[in-house]
Amino acid sequence: MPSVLPFLSSLADLVLGDRCPGCARPGAPLCTRCAQALERRPWRCRSRPGCPPVWAAGPYAGVEQALLLAFKERRVRGLARPLGHRLARAVAASTAKDTVPLLVPVPPRPGSVRRRGYDPVLLLARVAAREHGAVGHMDVYPVLRHRRRVRDQAGLDREHRRANLAGALIVPWKARPRIDQRPVVIVDDVLTTGATLAEASRALRAAGARVMCAAVLAEHH
Ligand SMILES: [Zn+2]
Repeated sequence: MPSVLPFLSSLADLVLGDRCPGCARPGAPLCTRCAQALERRPWRCRSRPGCPPVWAAGPYAGVEQALLLAFKERRVRGLARPLGHRLARAVAASTAKDTVPLLVPVPPRPGSVRRRGYDPVLLLARVAAREHGAVGHMDVYPVLRHRRRVRDQAGLDREHRRANLAGALIVPWKARPRIDQRPVVIVDDVLTTGATLAEASRALRAAGARVMCAAVLAEHH
């Protein structure tokens, strides 16, 4: 499958050669079997405290987990298109047909863009917005900022995640005029306890945004 994002080719793509990052069989950036495994209907996640309704494109398991990790940690950027397409489907499932929402990605932890070299959630949100282009012009508005340092959420339970993130995000004043117009869909990669989406939703609503729902690539059970 030819990449439509040649400018995103990376060292990891070269190292992997023509192997699929989902199953290591030949086929890049995604073999036919893994591509088929991804073709599933998005679903409404079970509710989490403080979260708006969330829609997921798939589970955080198996091939889907392997692909997301390859994209985020091994920088297999050829996966931006298939994963962005899945995020677009979750966004479409979460909203009424004639609604053109503003997509607000959850911001990366401070320092992680420098470490990774890019912001995976922002990139997927942009691909998803382009996919949606046939329906209407959907904008990505990366407006959330960290107000203070937060710990890595991995290994923290729900209560500690909530405490770690409480009040951590903010919408800067200068960005507020644009967000009070259109319904907002928050986008993120993985939904676990929902603490991140709850904090993102709180910060956006405090800034006057109409948070409608959220869409994620994968739900962690
Ligand atoms: Zn595969």
